[in-house]
Amino acid sequence: MLPIAVSVALLAACGGAPDNTLEGRADSGALTIGIRFDQPGLAQRRIDGKFVGFDVDVAKYIAGQLGVDEKKITWVEARSADREKMIVSGAVDFVVATYSITDKRKQQVAFAGPYFETGQGVLVRYTEQEITGPDSLNGKNLCSVTGSTSAQKVESDFAKGVKLVEYGQYSDCVTALLAGNVDAVTTDEVILAGFAAANPELLKVVGPKFSTERYGVGLPKDDLKGRADVNAAINKMISSGEWAKSFSRNIGESGVEVPKPPQVTEQ
Ligand code: GLU
Repeated sequence: MLPIAVSVALLAACGGAPDNTLEGRADSGALTIGIRFDQPGLAQRRIDGKFVGFDVDVAKYIAGQLGVDEKKITWVEARSADREKMIVSGAVDFVVATYSITDKRKQQVAFAGPYFETGQGVLVRYTEQEITGPDSLNGKNLCSVTGSTSAQKVESDFAKGVKLVEYGQYSDCVTALLAGNVDAVTTDEVILAGFAAANPELLKVVGPKFSTERYGVGLPKDDLKGRADVNAAINKMISSGEWAKSFSRNIGESGVEVPKPPQVTEQ
């Protein structure tokens, strides 16, 4: 008979972690990750099919720490309204998509992180004079995205005076803004700054941030080991300096200063 320690080691080597855990999925050598396709600076699919941005780098770093090469990542578009569904159904292994940690979402999914902190802001056409921030939106058409905390906040805080127009993704709101179909777009400032940097003669971010958004990595609720592994990867990305490097490479030119990294607190 084999000594117990050897038997356990053998069992672990043969069986491995179950397939429905992040560890088990990563052991298979490939991962499916939910990401945005249309957010400059954060996550964008380029014309050559490559994905670039800060969220993309966070996702790749986590995959790398789990032993999965970036070539083995399948990227799936995770729009605001679809993220919980995609995680719960197992369509993706995790989501890195400007995804704010909220108690409501935690009823369905778990979060690792946060890996970034921002707040809601307002984007307008460069020539706009009247709208100077969240307090001057009365009577205006304001665009945001279905299923986002940004749209929810407009409904709860501005419902009377503002006409909310909802689209499925922020790039559609920006198109509507440029076309003159809406007067402003609202979501997290870091997202708006990316669009403004891509169109500096046409768009500008105005006013102060008026919420706190802590971005987490969305995961299935019951995979505690998976969450701990992702937290460890985020901590390592921060302590190794990769986090700050990626931020300044991807978002630095939009004028957002490299902030202090957040404390990873989700357990
Ligand atoms: N961070 C906010 C949210 O998770 C807004 C950005 C987004 O829709 O991705 O709802």
